[in-house]
Amino acid sequence: MTKTFGKLALGLLVFSGLGCGAQQKPATADVPKYDVDSQQTISGTIQEVKDYPCPVSGSLGTHLAIKAGSEILEAHLAPAAFLKEYGISFKVGDSVKVAGVRLMFDGKPAILVREITMGDVTVTFRDDKGRPAW
Ligand SMILES: [Zn+2]
Repeated sequence: MTKTFGKLALGLLVFSGLGCGAQQKPATADVPKYDVDSQQTISGTIQEVKDYPCPVSGSLGTHLAIKAGSEILEAHLAPAAFLKEYGISFKVGDSVKVAGVRLMFDGKPAILVREITMGDVTVTFRDDKGRPAW
């Protein structure tokens, strides 16, 4: 009886801990490191364009959901203001090629974008060391 109760209580603790972390995400989540050694290039189609506050950009960031093969990657580009300044915009359905670092972020497969190519236009968000250009 006591044992069962202990397990239950632990389960609840873990659960509430997770919920709490998710709510405080923009302020407290760790900024994932851009590891140049694990860079890769993926090709896919834009499924969704989303601006939301994100620790990667450090402000309101622009994100693309990119369908690459059978998976959907959350591409973290740059602050929305940076893209606006350069007149960069994305459309759902556009084919893109993205160079960056893949990782799991916020429970989803994600990619920190260094460079994105649409047709013959390439936009660079980070230098060759992965340092943000914004
Ligand atoms: Zn982001």
